[in-house]
Amino acid sequence: MRLSRYFLPTLREDPAEAEVISHKLMLRAGMIRRLASGIYSFLPLGLRALRKVERIVREEMDRAGALEVLLPLVQPAELWKETDRWDRFGKELLRFKDRKEHDFCLGPTHEEVITDLVRGEVRSYRQLPLILYQIATKFRDEIRPRFGLMRGREFIMKDAYSFDADEEGLDRSYRLMYETYERIFSRCGLRFTAVLADTGAIGGEESHEFMVLAETGEDVIASCPSCGYAANLEMAEAVREYFYPEEEERPLEKVSTPGVRKVEEVAAFLGVPTWKLVKTLLYLVDGKPYAVLVRGDHELNEVKLRRALGAEKVEMADPETVERLTGAPVGFAGPVGLSGLTIIADKAVAGLKNFVTGANEEDAHYVNVNHPRDFKIEAFFDLRNVTEGDLCPRCGKPLELTRGIEVGHVFKLGTKYSEAMGATFLDREGKERPFVMGCYGIGVSRTVAAAIEQNHDENGIIWPLALAPFHAALLTLGADSDLLQASERLYQALWESGVEVLWDERDERPGVKFKDADLIGLPYRVVLGKKFKSEGKVEIKPRRGGETLMLSPDEAVSFLASKVKEAQSS
Ligand code: ATP
Ligand code: MG
Repeated sequence: MRLSRYFLPTLREDPAEAEVISHKLMLRAGMIRRLASGIYSFLPLGLRALRKVERIVREEMDRAGALEVLLPLVQPAELWKETDRWDRFGKELLRFKDRKEHDFCLGPTHEEVITDLVRGEVRSYRQLPLILYQIATKFRDEIRPRFGLMRGREFIMKDAYSFDADEEGLDRSYRLMYETYERIFSRCGLRFTAVLADTGAIGGEESHEFMVLAETGEDVIASCPSCGYAANLEMAEAVREYFYPEEEERPLEKVSTPGVRKVEEVAAFLGVPTWKLVKTLLYLVDGKPYAVLVRGDHELNEVKLRRALGAEKVEMADPETVERLTGAPVGFAGPVGLSGLTIIADKAVAGLKNFVTGANEEDAHYVNVNHPRDFKIEAFFDLRNVTEGDLCPRCGKPLELTRGIEVGHVFKLGTKYSEAMGATFLDREGKERPFVMGCYGIGVSRTVAAAIEQNHDENGIIWPLALAPFHAALLTLGADSDLLQASERLYQALWESGVEVLWDERDERPGVKFKDADLIGLPYRVVLGKKFKSEGKVEIKPRRGGETLMLSPDEAVSFLASKVKEAQSS
Protein backbone atom coordinates (compact mmCIF):
# COMPACT_ATOMS: atom_id res chain seq x y z
CA MET A 1 0.00 0.00 0.00
CA ARG A 2 1.28 3.46 -0.89
CA LEU A 3 0.71 5.96 1.85
CA SER A 4 -0.09 8.80 -0.56
CA ARG A 5 -3.01 6.71 -1.84
CA TYR A 6 -4.00 5.30 1.54
CA PHE A 7 -6.88 6.51 3.71
CA LEU A 8 -4.97 7.26 6.86
CA PRO A 9 -6.09 10.42 8.64
CA THR A 10 -3.57 10.65 11.49
CA LEU A 11 -3.89 13.24 14.25
CA ARG A 12 -1.06 15.12 15.95
CA GLU A 13 -2.91 15.80 19.19
CA ASP A 14 -4.73 13.53 21.60
CA PRO A 15 -8.45 13.81 20.85
CA ALA A 16 -10.48 15.20 23.74
CA GLU A 17 -13.07 12.40 23.53
CA ALA A 18 -10.54 9.70 24.45
CA GLU A 19 -9.54 8.76 28.00
CA VAL A 20 -7.48 5.61 27.61
CA ILE A 21 -4.32 5.01 25.60
CA SER A 22 -5.73 2.52 23.11
CA HIS A 23 -8.64 4.80 22.28
CA LYS A 24 -6.37 7.82 21.84
CA LEU A 25 -3.90 5.93 19.71
CA MET A 26 -6.52 4.27 17.53
CA LEU A 27 -8.05 7.67 16.78
CA ARG A 28 -4.67 9.30 16.24
CA ALA A 29 -3.38 6.48 14.04
CA GLY A 30 -6.46 6.77 11.84
CA MET A 31 -7.78 3.31 12.70
CA ILE A 32 -11.28 4.17 13.88
CA ARG A 33 -13.72 7.05 13.98
CA ARG A 34 -16.71 7.55 16.26
CA LEU A 35 -20.15 7.69 14.71
CA ALA A 36 -22.22 7.80 17.91
CA SER A 37 -21.66 6.91 21.54
CA GLY A 38 -20.03 3.45 21.62
CA ILE A 39 -20.37 3.04 17.85
CA TYR A 40 -17.30 3.19 15.61
CA SER A 41 -16.33 2.91 11.98
CA PHE A 42 -13.20 0.95 11.16
CA LEU A 43 -10.90 2.69 8.71
CA PRO A 44 -8.59 0.62 6.48
CA LEU A 45 -5.72 0.41 8.96
CA GLY A 46 -8.00 -0.49 11.87
CA LEU A 47 -9.83 -3.05 9.83
CA ARG A 48 -6.58 -4.77 8.90
CA ALA A 49 -5.72 -5.22 12.59
CA LEU A 50 -9.24 -6.49 13.31
CA ARG A 51 -8.93 -8.99 10.45
CA LYS A 52 -5.65 -10.27 11.88
CA VAL A 53 -7.35 -11.13 15.16
CA GLU A 54 -10.32 -12.65 13.32
CA ARG A 55 -8.05 -14.80 11.22
CA ILE A 56 -6.18 -16.25 14.18
CA VAL A 57 -9.47 -16.89 15.98
CA ARG A 58 -10.97 -18.56 12.91
CA GLU A 59 -7.94 -20.75 12.23
CA GLU A 60 -7.78 -21.98 15.81
CA MET A 61 -11.54 -22.56 16.12
CA ASP A 62 -11.45 -24.52 12.85
CA ARG A 63 -8.47 -26.50 14.08
CA ALA A 64 -10.48 -27.42 17.19
CA GLY A 65 -13.21 -28.79 14.94
CA ALA A 66 -15.69 -26.00 15.60
CA LEU A 67 -17.89 -25.08 12.63
CA GLU A 68 -18.46 -21.54 11.51
CA VAL A 69 -21.98 -20.18 11.04
CA LEU A 70 -23.38 -16.69 10.73
CA LEU A 71 -26.44 -15.91 12.83
CA PRO A 72 -28.81 -12.96 12.51
CA LEU A 73 -28.22 -9.77 14.44
CA VAL A 74 -31.95 -9.06 14.50
CA GLN A 75 -33.80 -11.52 16.68
CA PRO A 76 -37.51 -12.01 17.38
CA ALA A 77 -38.81 -11.42 20.91
CA GLU A 78 -40.54 -14.81 20.98
CA LEU A 79 -37.21 -16.62 21.33
CA TRP A 80 -36.15 -14.42 24.20
CA LYS A 81 -39.48 -14.97 25.90
CA GLU A 82 -38.89 -18.72 25.88
CA THR A 83 -35.93 -18.26 28.24
CA ASP A 84 -37.54 -15.38 30.11
CA ARG A 85 -34.69 -13.13 29.09
CA TRP A 86 -36.97 -10.72 27.21
CA ASP A 87 -38.02 -9.47 30.64
CA ARG A 88 -34.84 -10.14 32.58
CA PHE A 89 -32.08 -8.91 30.34
CA GLY A 90 -32.47 -5.26 31.23
CA LYS A 91 -31.80 -2.20 29.17
CA GLU A 92 -28.68 -3.51 27.47
CA LEU A 93 -31.05 -5.39 25.20
CA LEU A 94 -32.02 -2.93 22.50
CA ARG A 95 -35.64 -3.66 21.59
CA PHE A 96 -37.73 -2.34 18.75
CA LYS A 97 -40.76 -3.12 16.62
CA ASP A 98 -40.94 -3.84 12.93
CA ARG A 99 -43.64 -2.34 10.65
CA LYS A 100 -46.06 -5.07 11.67
CA GLU A 101 -45.60 -4.11 15.32
CA HIS A 102 -43.73 -7.34 16.10
CA ASP A 103 -41.11 -7.11 18.85
CA PHE A 104 -37.47 -7.62 17.95
CA CYS A 105 -34.08 -6.97 19.51
CA LEU A 106 -30.50 -6.59 18.39
CA GLY A 107 -28.53 -9.62 19.53
CA PRO A 108 -26.24 -8.94 22.50
CA THR A 109 -25.43 -12.67 22.53
CA HIS A 110 -26.85 -15.68 20.69
CA GLU A 111 -27.77 -18.50 23.09
CA GLU A 112 -31.44 -18.40 22.09
CA VAL A 113 -30.80 -18.28 18.36
CA ILE A 114 -28.27 -21.09 18.37
CA THR A 115 -30.38 -23.28 20.66
CA ASP A 116 -33.36 -22.73 18.37
CA LEU A 117 -31.27 -23.71 15.35
CA VAL A 118 -29.91 -26.85 16.95
CA ARG A 119 -33.19 -28.06 18.44
CA GLY A 120 -34.67 -28.06 14.97
CA GLU A 121 -31.85 -29.97 13.32
CA VAL A 122 -30.02 -32.24 15.75
CA ARG A 123 -31.96 -35.29 16.87
CA SER A 124 -29.47 -37.95 17.93
CA TYR A 125 -26.54 -38.42 20.27
CA ARG A 126 -24.64 -39.59 17.18
CA GLN A 127 -24.53 -36.00 15.94
CA LEU A 128 -22.80 -34.85 19.14
CA PRO A 129 -20.58 -33.22 20.20
CA LEU A 130 -21.19 -30.15 18.09
CA ILE A 131 -19.46 -26.80 18.44
CA LEU A 132 -20.72 -23.91 16.33
CA TYR A 133 -19.22 -20.45 16.22
CA GLN A 134 -19.51 -17.13 14.46
CA ILE A 135 -17.55 -13.90 14.25
CA ALA A 136 -20.08 -11.14 14.06
CA THR A 137 -21.48 -7.85 15.28
CA LYS A 138 -23.13 -7.69 18.69
CA PHE A 139 -25.13 -4.85 20.09
CA ARG A 140 -25.39 -4.09 23.80
CA ASP A 141 -26.86 -0.82 24.91
CA GLU A 142 -24.20 -0.40 27.62
CA ILE A 143 -24.95 2.26 30.27
CA ARG A 144 -21.45 3.64 30.05
CA PRO A 145 -19.94 2.95 26.67
CA ARG A 146 -16.38 4.15 26.95
CA PHE A 147 -12.77 3.71 26.07
CA GLY A 148 -13.46 3.30 22.36
CA LEU A 149 -13.46 -0.31 21.24
CA MET A 150 -12.92 -1.48 24.79
CA ARG A 151 -16.55 -1.05 25.80
CA GLY A 152 -18.59 -0.24 22.75
CA ARG A 153 -22.29 -0.63 22.17
CA GLU A 154 -21.73 -2.16 18.76
CA PHE A 155 -18.74 -4.49 18.70
CA ILE A 156 -17.35 -7.62 17.10
CA MET A 157 -17.43 -10.85 19.05
CA LYS A 158 -16.54 -14.42 18.33
CA ASP A 159 -19.16 -16.49 20.07
CA ALA A 160 -19.18 -20.25 20.15
CA TYR A 161 -21.65 -22.74 21.60
CA SER A 162 -21.03 -26.38 22.38
CA PHE A 163 -23.67 -29.11 22.48
CA ASP A 164 -22.92 -32.35 24.26
CA ALA A 165 -24.82 -35.41 25.38
CA ASP A 166 -23.69 -35.27 29.01
CA GLU A 167 -21.54 -33.51 31.60
CA GLU A 168 -18.40 -35.44 30.65
CA GLY A 169 -18.86 -34.31 27.08
CA LEU A 170 -19.24 -30.72 28.25
CA ASP A 171 -16.06 -31.05 30.31
CA ARG A 172 -14.22 -32.13 27.15
CA SER A 173 -15.64 -29.33 25.01
CA TYR A 174 -14.86 -26.80 27.72
CA ARG A 175 -11.25 -28.03 28.00
CA LEU A 176 -10.90 -27.94 24.24
CA MET A 177 -12.12 -24.35 24.06
CA TYR A 178 -9.96 -23.34 27.01
CA GLU A 179 -6.89 -24.73 25.25
CA THR A 180 -7.97 -23.14 21.98
CA TYR A 181 -8.15 -19.77 23.75
CA GLU A 182 -4.64 -20.27 25.09
CA ARG A 183 -3.44 -20.92 21.55
CA ILE A 184 -5.33 -17.91 20.17
CA PHE A 185 -3.96 -15.37 22.63
CA SER A 186 -0.44 -16.83 22.44
CA ARG A 187 -0.53 -16.55 18.66
CA CYS A 188 -1.73 -12.97 19.00
CA GLY A 189 1.54 -12.30 20.80
CA LEU A 190 -0.20 -11.07 23.96
CA ARG A 191 0.67 -11.62 27.60
CA PHE A 192 -2.47 -13.05 29.20
CA THR A 193 -3.81 -15.18 32.00
CA ALA A 194 -6.94 -17.23 32.56
CA VAL A 195 -8.80 -16.57 35.80
CA LEU A 196 -11.71 -18.16 37.63
CA ALA A 197 -14.86 -16.13 37.05
CA ASP A 198 -18.35 -15.91 38.44
CA THR A 199 -21.00 -17.97 36.70
CA GLY A 200 -23.80 -15.45 37.00
CA ALA A 201 -27.20 -15.38 38.60
CA ILE A 202 -28.76 -18.61 37.40
CA GLY A 203 -27.24 -21.82 36.15
CA GLY A 204 -23.69 -22.11 35.00
CA GLU A 205 -21.19 -24.42 36.61
CA GLU A 206 -17.73 -23.26 35.73
CA SER A 207 -16.30 -20.22 34.07
CA HIS A 208 -12.96 -18.66 33.24
CA GLU A 209 -12.10 -15.27 31.86
CA PHE A 210 -9.07 -14.66 29.68
CA MET A 211 -7.35 -11.47 30.65
CA VAL A 212 -4.80 -9.53 28.67
CA LEU A 213 -2.41 -8.14 31.26
CA ALA A 214 -2.18 -4.35 31.19
CA GLU A 215 -1.74 -1.79 33.94
CA THR A 216 -4.58 0.20 32.46
CA GLY A 217 -7.03 -2.73 32.54
CA GLU A 218 -10.48 -2.26 34.09
CA ASP A 219 -10.36 -5.62 35.88
CA VAL A 220 -8.29 -6.63 38.87
CA ILE A 221 -6.83 -10.12 38.95
CA ALA A 222 -5.86 -11.83 42.17
CA SER A 223 -3.20 -14.41 41.57
CA CYS A 224 -0.90 -16.51 43.67
CA PRO A 225 2.69 -16.77 42.49
CA SER A 226 3.19 -19.77 44.77
CA CYS A 227 0.45 -22.14 43.58
CA GLY A 228 -0.89 -20.60 40.38
CA TYR A 229 -4.37 -19.77 41.69
CA ALA A 230 -5.88 -16.90 39.69
CA ALA A 231 -9.32 -15.36 39.98
CA ASN A 232 -11.06 -12.12 39.22
CA LEU A 233 -12.21 -9.96 42.11
CA GLU A 234 -15.70 -11.39 42.00
CA MET A 235 -14.38 -14.87 42.66
CA ALA A 236 -11.26 -14.31 44.75
CA GLU A 237 -12.32 -15.38 48.20
CA ALA A 238 -11.16 -13.22 51.11
CA VAL A 239 -9.97 -15.77 53.62
CA ARG A 240 -7.93 -13.57 55.92
CA GLU A 241 -9.22 -13.53 59.49
CA TYR A 242 -8.98 -10.41 61.57
CA PHE A 243 -8.18 -10.62 65.25
CA TYR A 244 -9.02 -7.28 66.80
CA PRO A 245 -7.49 -6.16 70.07
CA GLU A 246 -9.65 -6.74 73.16
CA GLU A 247 -11.47 -3.54 74.04
CA GLU A 248 -14.07 -2.55 76.61
CA GLU A 249 -17.35 -1.59 74.94
CA ARG A 250 -17.70 2.13 75.48
CA PRO A 251 -21.04 3.94 75.60
CA LEU A 252 -22.65 4.73 72.26
CA GLU A 253 -22.35 8.39 71.42
CA LYS A 254 -23.63 10.60 68.64
CA VAL A 255 -21.14 13.20 67.43
CA SER A 256 -21.56 16.10 65.11
CA THR A 257 -19.53 15.77 61.89
CA PRO A 258 -20.42 18.85 59.87
CA GLY A 259 -19.52 18.67 56.20
CA VAL A 260 -17.54 15.43 56.44
CA ARG A 261 -18.86 12.56 54.38
CA LYS A 262 -16.14 10.41 52.85
CA VAL A 263 -14.55 7.64 54.88
CA GLU A 264 -11.13 9.32 54.87
CA GLU A 265 -12.64 12.64 55.92
CA VAL A 266 -14.64 11.14 58.78
CA ALA A 267 -11.65 9.12 59.97
CA ALA A 268 -9.39 12.16 59.91
CA PHE A 269 -12.01 14.31 61.63
CA LEU A 270 -12.50 11.81 64.45
CA GLY A 271 -8.85 10.80 64.62
CA VAL A 272 -9.45 7.08 64.05
CA PRO A 273 -8.03 4.70 61.40
CA THR A 274 -10.31 4.06 58.40
CA TRP A 275 -10.73 0.41 59.39
CA LYS A 276 -12.56 1.57 62.52
CA LEU A 277 -15.30 2.98 60.33
CA VAL A 278 -18.08 0.76 59.07
CA LYS A 279 -19.83 1.76 55.85
CA THR A 280 -23.55 1.07 55.59
CA LEU A 281 -24.53 0.49 51.98
CA LEU A 282 -28.18 0.25 51.05
CA TYR A 283 -29.17 -2.20 48.38
CA LEU A 284 -32.26 -3.61 46.79
CA VAL A 285 -31.71 -7.33 46.48
CA ASP A 286 -34.34 -8.81 44.17
CA GLY A 287 -36.38 -5.79 45.22
CA LYS A 288 -35.94 -6.23 49.01
CA PRO A 289 -34.03 -3.63 51.02
CA TYR A 290 -30.75 -4.61 52.68
CA ALA A 291 -28.16 -2.70 54.65
CA VAL A 292 -24.74 -4.13 53.89
CA LEU A 293 -21.88 -3.36 56.25
CA VAL A 294 -18.25 -3.31 55.19
CA ARG A 295 -15.21 -1.87 56.87
CA GLY A 296 -14.24 1.66 55.86
CA ASP A 297 -11.02 0.54 54.21
CA HIS A 298 -12.71 -2.29 52.31
CA GLU A 299 -14.76 -2.32 49.13
CA LEU A 300 -18.01 -4.18 48.67
CA ASN A 301 -18.17 -6.53 45.69
CA GLU A 302 -21.72 -6.63 44.31
CA VAL A 303 -21.28 -9.98 42.63
CA LYS A 304 -20.21 -11.52 45.93
CA LEU A 305 -23.27 -9.93 47.52
CA ARG A 306 -25.55 -11.37 44.88
CA ARG A 307 -24.01 -14.80 45.25
CA ALA A 308 -24.07 -14.74 49.04
CA LEU A 309 -27.81 -14.06 49.03
CA GLY A 310 -28.54 -16.39 46.14
CA ALA A 311 -30.17 -13.44 44.43
CA GLU A 312 -30.69 -12.63 40.81
CA LYS A 313 -30.34 -8.89 40.92
CA VAL A 314 -28.70 -6.45 43.31
CA GLU A 315 -28.92 -2.74 42.80
CA MET A 316 -27.75 0.12 44.92
CA ALA A 317 -30.77 1.90 46.41
CA ASP A 318 -31.51 5.21 44.71
CA PRO A 319 -31.32 8.42 46.78
CA GLU A 320 -35.09 8.53 47.43
CA THR A 321 -35.11 4.97 48.73
CA VAL A 322 -32.10 5.73 50.94
CA GLU A 323 -33.90 8.71 52.42
CA ARG A 324 -37.07 6.73 52.96
CA LEU A 325 -35.18 3.90 54.71
CA THR A 326 -32.80 5.97 56.82
CA GLY A 327 -34.49 9.32 57.13
CA ALA A 328 -31.24 10.98 56.03
CA PRO A 329 -29.66 11.92 52.72
CA VAL A 330 -27.16 9.58 51.05
CA GLY A 331 -23.87 9.36 52.94
CA PHE A 332 -25.11 9.20 56.53
CA ALA A 333 -26.67 5.74 56.77
CA GLY A 334 -25.84 3.61 59.79
CA PRO A 335 -27.17 0.38 61.24
CA VAL A 336 -28.24 1.72 64.64
CA GLY A 337 -31.98 2.26 64.74
CA LEU A 338 -32.59 1.06 61.18
CA SER A 339 -35.77 -0.90 60.66
CA GLY A 340 -37.71 -2.40 57.82
CA LEU A 341 -34.70 -4.02 56.21
CA THR A 342 -32.20 -6.81 56.69
CA ILE A 343 -28.72 -6.02 57.97
CA ILE A 344 -25.85 -8.21 56.82
CA ALA A 345 -22.11 -7.67 57.03
CA ASP A 346 -18.79 -8.64 55.59
CA LYS A 347 -16.85 -11.11 57.73
CA ALA A 348 -14.17 -8.56 58.55
CA VAL A 349 -16.77 -6.58 60.53
CA ALA A 350 -17.22 -9.46 62.99
CA GLY A 351 -15.43 -8.80 66.25
CA LEU A 352 -14.83 -5.13 65.53
CA LYS A 353 -15.36 -3.03 68.69
CA ASN A 354 -16.21 0.62 69.25
CA PHE A 355 -16.51 1.48 65.59
CA VAL A 356 -17.91 4.49 63.79
CA THR A 357 -21.03 4.50 61.62
CA GLY A 358 -23.42 7.01 60.12
CA ALA A 359 -26.24 8.14 62.44
CA ASN A 360 -29.05 8.29 59.86
CA GLU A 361 -28.96 12.03 60.29
CA GLU A 362 -27.25 14.69 58.21
CA ASP A 363 -23.82 15.76 59.55
CA ALA A 364 -23.78 13.22 62.39
CA HIS A 365 -22.05 9.93 63.15
CA TYR A 366 -22.16 7.43 65.96
CA VAL A 367 -18.96 6.48 67.70
CA ASN A 368 -18.39 3.46 69.95
CA VAL A 369 -20.90 1.39 68.04
CA ASN A 370 -20.91 -2.25 69.08
CA HIS A 371 -22.56 -5.33 67.75
CA PRO A 372 -24.74 -7.06 68.96
CA ARG A 373 -25.29 -4.47 71.70
CA ASP A 374 -26.54 -1.65 69.46
CA PHE A 375 -28.09 -3.47 66.51
CA LYS A 376 -28.49 -6.89 64.98
CA ILE A 377 -26.56 -8.38 62.07
CA GLU A 378 -28.51 -11.23 60.43
CA ALA A 379 -25.51 -12.90 58.82
CA PHE A 380 -21.86 -12.50 57.89
CA PHE A 381 -20.53 -13.30 54.41
CA ASP A 382 -17.43 -12.77 52.33
CA LEU A 383 -18.55 -9.59 50.57
CA ARG A 384 -15.42 -7.55 50.06
CA ASN A 385 -12.78 -7.29 47.38
CA VAL A 386 -9.49 -8.85 48.33
CA THR A 387 -6.72 -6.30 48.73
CA GLU A 388 -2.95 -6.23 48.94
CA GLY A 389 -2.03 -8.42 51.92
CA ASP A 390 -4.85 -10.94 51.46
CA LEU A 391 -3.93 -14.59 51.31
CA CYS A 392 -4.43 -17.25 48.66
CA PRO A 393 -7.57 -19.29 49.44
CA ARG A 394 -5.84 -22.36 48.07
CA CYS A 395 -2.37 -22.30 49.65
CA GLY A 396 -2.38 -19.43 52.15
CA LYS A 397 0.53 -17.52 50.64
CA PRO A 398 0.15 -13.81 49.83
CA LEU A 399 -1.93 -12.94 46.78
CA GLU A 400 -0.72 -10.58 44.11
CA LEU A 401 -3.05 -8.05 42.53
CA THR A 402 -2.57 -7.12 38.89
CA ARG A 403 -4.71 -5.51 36.23
CA GLY A 404 -6.13 -6.97 33.09
CA ILE A 405 -8.61 -6.59 30.28
CA GLU A 406 -11.18 -9.33 29.77
CA VAL A 407 -10.85 -10.46 26.17
CA GLY A 408 -12.41 -13.90 26.40
CA HIS A 409 -14.86 -15.85 28.48
CA VAL A 410 -15.57 -19.58 28.59
CA PHE A 411 -18.65 -20.74 30.41
CA LYS A 412 -20.37 -24.03 31.21
CA LEU A 413 -24.07 -23.38 30.72
CA GLY A 414 -25.30 -26.90 31.41
CA THR A 415 -28.94 -27.40 30.46
CA LYS A 416 -30.22 -23.95 31.34
CA TYR A 417 -31.09 -22.96 27.76
CA SER A 418 -31.85 -26.38 26.36
CA GLU A 419 -34.37 -27.09 29.12
CA ALA A 420 -36.01 -23.71 28.87
CA MET A 421 -36.32 -24.06 25.10
CA GLY A 422 -37.11 -27.77 24.91
CA ALA A 423 -33.95 -28.53 22.94
CA THR A 424 -33.49 -32.28 23.23
CA PHE A 425 -31.91 -35.24 21.47
CA LEU A 426 -32.36 -39.00 21.71
CA ASP A 427 -29.66 -40.73 23.72
CA ARG A 428 -28.28 -44.24 23.17
CA GLU A 429 -31.30 -45.76 24.92
CA GLY A 430 -33.70 -43.74 22.82
CA LYS A 431 -34.51 -41.47 25.73
CA GLU A 432 -35.08 -37.77 25.20
CA ARG A 433 -32.51 -35.54 26.93
CA PRO A 434 -31.67 -31.84 26.93
CA PHE A 435 -28.38 -30.81 25.31
CA VAL A 436 -25.61 -30.00 27.76
CA MET A 437 -24.23 -26.69 26.58
CA GLY A 438 -21.25 -24.37 26.90
CA CYS A 439 -20.65 -20.91 25.51
CA TYR A 440 -17.39 -19.24 24.63
CA GLY A 441 -16.87 -15.60 23.72
CA ILE A 442 -13.95 -13.55 22.51
CA GLY A 443 -14.14 -9.78 22.22
CA VAL A 444 -12.48 -9.51 18.84
CA SER A 445 -12.60 -5.73 18.60
CA ARG A 446 -11.70 -5.42 22.29
CA THR A 447 -8.65 -7.62 21.68
CA VAL A 448 -7.32 -5.06 19.19
CA ALA A 449 -7.65 -2.34 21.84
CA ALA A 450 -6.16 -4.59 24.53
CA ALA A 451 -3.14 -5.30 22.33
CA ILE A 452 -2.50 -1.57 22.18
CA GLU A 453 -3.02 -1.06 25.92
CA GLN A 454 -0.37 -3.68 26.48
CA ASN A 455 2.01 -2.58 23.73
CA HIS A 456 2.73 1.11 23.28
CA ASP A 457 5.13 3.88 24.31
CA GLU A 458 4.96 7.67 24.42
CA ASN A 459 5.30 7.85 20.64
CA GLY A 460 2.59 5.42 19.65
CA ILE A 461 1.56 1.83 19.16
CA ILE A 462 4.05 -1.08 19.18
CA TRP A 463 2.22 -3.84 17.34
CA PRO A 464 2.95 -7.48 18.04
CA LEU A 465 3.88 -8.87 14.62
CA ALA A 466 0.89 -11.20 14.49
CA LEU A 467 -1.67 -8.40 14.87
CA ALA A 468 0.09 -5.58 13.03
CA PRO A 469 -1.98 -4.14 10.18
CA PHE A 470 1.21 -4.31 8.09
CA HIS A 471 4.46 -5.96 9.06
CA ALA A 472 6.69 -3.06 8.06
CA ALA A 473 6.74 0.59 7.10
CA LEU A 474 8.97 1.52 4.20
CA LEU A 475 10.10 5.14 4.34
CA THR A 476 11.67 6.82 1.36
CA LEU A 477 13.53 9.93 2.48
CA GLY A 478 14.00 12.05 -0.61
CA ALA A 479 12.26 12.44 -3.92
CA ASP A 480 14.89 11.67 -6.55
CA SER A 481 13.85 9.09 -9.07
CA ASP A 482 16.66 6.57 -8.36
CA LEU A 483 15.65 6.41 -4.74
CA LEU A 484 11.98 6.10 -5.62
CA GLN A 485 12.67 3.36 -8.15
CA ALA A 486 14.82 1.39 -5.72
CA SER A 487 12.09 1.82 -3.10
CA GLU A 488 9.46 0.55 -5.47
CA ARG A 489 11.54 -2.54 -6.28
CA LEU A 490 12.00 -3.24 -2.59
CA TYR A 491 8.31 -2.65 -1.96
CA GLN A 492 7.36 -5.20 -4.64
CA ALA A 493 9.93 -7.73 -3.46
CA LEU A 494 8.69 -7.48 0.12
CA TRP A 495 5.05 -8.10 -0.81
CA GLU A 496 6.08 -10.98 -3.05
CA SER A 497 7.91 -12.66 -0.17
CA GLY A 498 4.95 -12.33 2.18
CA VAL A 499 5.94 -9.14 3.99
CA GLU A 500 3.02 -6.72 4.15
CA VAL A 501 4.49 -3.29 3.80
CA LEU A 502 3.08 0.21 3.91
CA TRP A 503 5.20 2.49 1.72
CA ASP A 504 5.53 6.10 2.80
CA GLU A 505 6.46 7.70 -0.54
CA ARG A 506 4.78 10.99 0.32
CA ASP A 507 6.54 14.22 -0.36
CA GLU A 508 6.99 14.98 3.33
CA ARG A 509 9.87 15.88 5.63
CA PRO A 510 11.66 12.92 7.27
CA GLY A 511 10.52 14.13 10.70
CA VAL A 512 6.89 13.82 9.68
CA LYS A 513 7.43 10.35 8.28
CA PHE A 514 9.25 9.13 11.39
CA LYS A 515 6.54 10.51 13.65
CA ASP A 516 3.76 8.85 11.69
CA ALA A 517 5.69 5.58 11.55
CA ASP A 518 6.14 5.58 15.32
CA LEU A 519 2.49 6.45 15.89
CA ILE A 520 1.18 3.69 13.63
CA GLY A 521 3.70 1.37 15.22
CA LEU A 522 4.34 -1.25 12.55
CA PRO A 523 6.90 -3.77 13.89
CA TYR A 524 9.71 -2.83 11.47
CA ARG A 525 10.72 0.48 9.97
CA VAL A 526 12.68 0.22 6.73
CA VAL A 527 14.39 3.41 5.60
CA LEU A 528 15.87 4.29 2.21
CA GLY A 529 17.77 7.56 2.40
CA LYS A 530 21.32 8.90 2.39
CA LYS A 531 22.91 5.57 3.35
CA PHE A 532 21.22 3.95 0.42
CA LYS A 533 22.58 6.51 -1.98
CA SER A 534 26.13 6.31 -0.58
CA GLU A 535 26.41 2.61 0.28
CA GLY A 536 23.35 0.89 -1.14
CA LYS A 537 22.19 0.01 2.38
CA VAL A 538 18.72 -0.08 3.82
CA GLU A 539 18.16 0.67 7.50
CA ILE A 540 15.87 -1.68 9.44
CA LYS A 541 14.76 -0.69 12.90
CA PRO A 542 12.40 -2.72 15.08
CA ARG A 543 9.66 -0.51 16.55
CA ARG A 544 10.06 -2.22 19.92
CA GLY A 545 13.69 -1.12 20.10
CA GLY A 546 16.84 -3.16 19.82
CA GLU A 547 19.48 -3.33 17.16
CA THR A 548 19.25 -1.26 13.98
CA LEU A 549 20.45 -3.23 10.96
CA MET A 550 22.07 -1.94 7.78
CA LEU A 551 21.38 -4.43 5.00
CA SER A 552 21.31 -4.64 1.24
CA PRO A 553 17.80 -4.67 -0.23
CA ASP A 554 18.01 -8.43 -0.85
CA GLU A 555 19.15 -9.12 2.69
CA ALA A 556 16.41 -6.86 3.97
CA VAL A 557 13.79 -8.89 2.13
CA SER A 558 15.02 -12.23 3.45
CA PHE A 559 15.43 -10.86 6.99
CA LEU A 560 11.88 -9.52 7.15
CA ALA A 561 10.40 -12.53 5.36
CA SER A 562 11.97 -14.84 7.92
CA LYS A 563 10.62 -12.75 10.82
CA VAL A 564 7.13 -12.93 9.37
CA LYS A 565 7.37 -16.70 8.83
CA GLU A 566 8.59 -17.18 12.38
CA ALA A 567 5.60 -15.30 13.79
CA GLN A 568 3.15 -17.21 11.59
CA SER A 569 4.45 -20.63 12.54
CA SER A 570 4.61 -20.03 16.30
P1 ATP B 1 -17.84 -7.23 30.61
O1 ATP B 1 -17.77 -7.88 31.97
O2 ATP B 1 -16.56 -6.60 30.18
O3 ATP B 1 -19.03 -6.35 30.43
P2 ATP B 1 -19.27 -9.48 29.68
O4 ATP B 1 -19.05 -10.40 30.79
O5 ATP B 1 -20.54 -8.76 29.57
O6 ATP B 1 -18.08 -8.41 29.60
P3 ATP B 1 -19.41 -11.63 27.78
O7 ATP B 1 -20.88 -11.66 27.71
O8 ATP B 1 -18.69 -12.71 28.48
O9 ATP B 1 -18.94 -10.20 28.32
O10 ATP B 1 -18.87 -11.44 26.28
C1 ATP B 1 -17.74 -12.11 25.76
C2 ATP B 1 -16.62 -11.14 25.42
O11 ATP B 1 -17.07 -10.04 24.63
C3 ATP B 1 -16.01 -10.48 26.64
O12 ATP B 1 -15.04 -11.32 27.20
C4 ATP B 1 -15.42 -9.21 26.06
O13 ATP B 1 -14.13 -9.47 25.56
C5 ATP B 1 -16.33 -8.88 24.91
N1 ATP B 1 -17.24 -7.77 25.24
C6 ATP B 1 -18.29 -7.79 26.08
N2 ATP B 1 -18.90 -6.60 26.13
C7 ATP B 1 -18.22 -5.79 25.28
C8 ATP B 1 -18.37 -4.42 24.87
N3 ATP B 1 -19.35 -3.67 25.36
N4 ATP B 1 -17.48 -3.92 23.98
C9 ATP B 1 -16.50 -4.69 23.47
N5 ATP B 1 -16.32 -5.98 23.81
C10 ATP B 1 -17.16 -6.53 24.70
MG1 MG C 1 -17.67 -11.85 31.18
